[in-house]
Amino acid sequence: MLNADCLFCKIINGDIPSQKVYENDYCFAFRDINPQAPVHILVVPKDHIESADMVKFNNSFYVAKIFEAIPSIAKAEGLKNGYRVITNCGEDACQTVKHLHFHILGGEKMAEKMC
Ligand code: AMP
Ligand code: ZN
Repeated sequence: MLNADCLFCKIINGDIPSQKVYENDYCFAFRDINPQAPVHILVVPKDHIESADMVKFNNSFYVAKIFEAIPSIAKAEGLKNGYRVITNCGEDACQTVKHLHFHILGGEKMAEKMC
């Protein structure tokens, strides 16, 4: 179920515009508005799951569906040499939008250190 007060739910239902790159019944992918790599895409479930910390037996299929979609998104973006998938969860990880999302980052060699 979507949440009327959530930025990414509004992007999913089209109330806020986005640069969509992929969509199926379970997930929606769009370009990050403030890219941190040449390719920076966000993939979100079409359900208002707040973060990775809220993934449970009854919604984990969204995560599986997202990870099924990621290789085809990466291929379409030309990420032949690899990419990074990140989800920030909670305050210490600096999660700013409280709707589960996976960052796909690529298009250049990234630093080995992740934090
Ligand atoms: P996080 O810090 O992991 O919660 O990531 C939230 C991401 O959402 C950031 O990388 C933002 O740049 C991105 N973002 C915020 N608003 C929008 C928007 N309207 N369209 C696309 N990306 C957005
Ligand atoms: Zn939401």
